[in-house]
Formats: sequence, C-alpha cells, structure tokens
Amino acid sequence: MRLLLGSELDDFLAALRLDRETSVRVNTKVEFELLSVLQDAGLEEVPWCMEGYYLRRRPQFTLDPLFHAGAYYVQEPSSMFLSEVVEQLLPQESVVLDLCAAPGGKTTLLSEYVGDKGLIVSNEVVRQRVFILSENVQKWGNGNVVVTHNQPRDFGDALENAFDCLLVDAPCSGEGMFRKDEGSIDEWSIRNVEMCAARQRDILRHAWPALKPGGLLIYSTCTYNRQENEDNAAFIRDELGADIVNIDYDSEWGIKETEAGLHFYPHLTRGEGFYICVLRKHDAPYTPFTAKQKKSSFKQTGNKEFIPLMRSWLQTPDKWHIRLNERFADAYPTKYQLFIDYLSQHFTCVSTGFGIGEVRGKFMAPQHSLSMLKDFRKEVFPCVPLTLEQAIDYLRSEALPLHNLPFGTLLLTYQDCPLGFAKNVGNHCNNLYPNEWRIRNK
Ligand code: SAM
Repeated sequence: MRLLLGSELDDFLAALRLDRETSVRVNTKVEFELLSVLQDAGLEEVPWCMEGYYLRRRPQFTLDPLFHAGAYYVQEPSSMFLSEVVEQLLPQESVVLDLCAAPGGKTTLLSEYVGDKGLIVSNEVVRQRVFILSENVQKWGNGNVVVTHNQPRDFGDALENAFDCLLVDAPCSGEGMFRKDEGSIDEWSIRNVEMCAARQRDILRHAWPALKPGGLLIYSTCTYNRQENEDNAAFIRDELGADIVNIDYDSEWGIKETEAGLHFYPHLTRGEGFYICVLRKHDAPYTPFTAKQKKSSFKQTGNKEFIPLMRSWLQTPDKWHIRLNERFADAYPTKYQLFIDYLSQHFTCVSTGFGIGEVRGKFMAPQHSLSMLKDFRKEVFPCVPLTLEQAIDYLRSEALPLHNLPFGTLLLTYQDCPLGFAKNVGNHCNNLYPNEWRIRNK
C-alpha cells in the first residue's frame, strides 16, 4: 500500500478505522416520499449514482417491509459508480452478461438501466449464492433478467458474439472490504492475491468469446493491488485484444486514475475500496449470434387456455412472452424470446424473467414474483393495505388474522407497495409469501 499510496498511507490507514458508510439504491417502484425508514435515517445523495443515497444512521432493514418488497437495495457506494459508467458508455438497448453476479447489486443496477430496451443475463457459479441472486432480481421487478448457474467457459463455448457488454465483477482478495468484512483480513495473503489474479484471468479468457467484437468489457474488483487490477487490465488489452476506454468523472469525487482504470480509496471517497476499468474488444469481422440460427425445439406444455387470464395481470401484455410448463408459467421479454429460449435449453436457468402463474387444481394462481413486477396490474386483485405489524407478520409467513375480506386471491400492500399474495378461503387467509424468503429472526 505504501508503494501505491506513498505519503497518503497514514490517511488511508486512519480511514480503515472509521465506520463504513451505509447506502442504498432506491427503486422506482415506490414513491420516494413513502420510503419512511430511509427518510428517517437521513439521506444524502451519492454523487455518481442518481438513485444512490448515503444514510446517516443504519436502520434495521429487516424490519422495514419495503426492503423485502425490493423498494431499495443496500449497496456499497463505490460500486454504484457502475451507474456512471453505463450512462456514459453503454447504449440501453444492450444484451449484458453479468458473469459473477451474486448477490445482485450490479445486476439490479444494470436491469434498471437497460429497462425495456435491453436484457441482462446474470450468472453465479456458486450454487448457494444463486438463490439470493434470483430473489433480489425478482424483488427488483423489471422482468428483464435471466439468472443462470453456469461456468464462465459455458458462455464462451455456446454464446460466441452474443453480448454487447460483459461485466466481470471478479472474485478477488477483498482488500477493499477490510472495513466492511473482517473475515476478508484473515483470508488475505500474498499467495491468495496471486491465486485470485490467476483465477480472474481464467474467468476472463473463458468468457471472452461471448463478447461481440466492439463490445464493452467492464472489469471490477474490490481490491487495491496491481496484480488483480492494472496487470489484469493489461492482460485483457494485450492478450485478449482490447483498448482501454476513458471514463469521465468529477475531480471532486476523490477518484484516483491510473494508466488503466479508476480506484476508490476510503480516505479519498466516501465508500469502500473499489477498482473499475472498461475496455472495448477489438473490432473484427464476425458472425453475429442469432438464436434463430440454432435449432429451437422449445415446446410449450400445459393448458394454453390460461394465457389470456395471465395476460390480464399485466399492464403491457404484448411486452411479455408467456411460457407454460405443466405446472408453472414464466414470462420474459417478447423482444428476446428466441435468445431466452436458447438459453433455457443450453444453460442452467434458475429464473427466466419472472414467474407469473402456477396451476393449482383447476385454476391458475399468480406467482409471488408477479406481485414484485413493475408491469403488474395491481387493480386486478382486491388490495388489502397492511399495518407495519401485519406486514412483518406476513413477511414472517405467519397466520393472517384478516377478516371481512373478499374470497380468493388478495394482494397485500404496505405504503402502496405490493408485498405479495394471500388467499382468503373463508374461515381463514392462507399466507402465500414464499417460505424460503421469509424473515427468520425475531
Ligand atoms: N457482482 C456482485 C454484486 O454486485 O452483488 C458481487 C460479485 S462478487 C465480487 C464475485 C462473485 O464471483 C461471487 O458471487 C462468487 O461466488 C463468484 N465466483 C467465485 N468464483 C468464481 C469463478 N471461478 N468464476 C466466476 N465467478 C466466481
């Protein structure tokens, strides 16, 4: 660190002893004024991300129903700089592969940025981490993300030239997390730095063919050393074939620029350690990836008569392709239907777009992730606004003592924001909140 920072070292070490910042990125699904827990904590804007806010005090997020409804995501401020990068460099109409994606901070940011125009394939290799990624994606509610559980080489092998942008937010030695996560101090060693740097090059090499010529590679880590950062950027530039792209930033933000990329240091910026570098893959003649060229043998099963009903649950049904299996129905952007069908056949897809319906006996019931979707037509189901206490009980999957309500499926809300469904069966209300997502601590 002395070699990197020289006379700034003492300031850097002093900053490591300070408390880390708490910050959130808010979702457009809820009126800003209704985010009372955040407002009460005291908000200050993160300068490089429009939706990012520092909180003066850290609230108990678990006890805020809106946290569980995806109204905001608790995200480290430095990593929100991705927002500035994509605003400057990435057309919204892009197909992006977020290769190392769990728990999903950057995926949800990208999903918000590309909106209706683009698509995000969000991948995680570690099985235990892929479910939290999928949960965070469902809660964010854009429906434009396919969550996969594959190896980087699977993308390079099967999806040559498929992506406009590849984000590799690489597993790293975590020097920038020392303040946030003490475990990362114990895990640090020179050997581990070398091991991480080699693994990062493997990841990059394997996934590289999936990026189109002329496409953008965004490479980031939460560590400071040159081996995992500048040296790997040089590897991408010289061995894989790319040019480093300039990123503009305000000099007041305290970012340090090197010959390859930008660094966030805690004594200069309000956030944890972070490194980011953007490279553009060399242009070359190529055959664009089109799913149509590959044989698509995807067959719908299940009762098609339910499709008009499910379409009626959506504000803009034409935007979505509904795919029926025997029991579950998923919906994903019509615009990318062939590509997503191809992914479903060749990749381990944990979620494709969002779950819309589930066959229950003779009926089609809405799936929870529909209630999280921004394009959901809330007025289709009778709405039951809950108090804070009722909302927490619901999110704990407890019994619901609700009375005098219409029969059938009900939409439960808190501060106007959907939390999920319940079913009034007459003498009681069944809590349909996904059991695996329930709040566990008391
Ligand atoms: N992008 C995430 C976000 O913003 O929430 C954080 C990603 S974290 C820095 C790196 C991720 O890479 C971890 O989820 C880890 O499980 C995954 N990973 C570990 N080994 C990997 C490998 N060999 N190839 C690809 N990803 C790997």
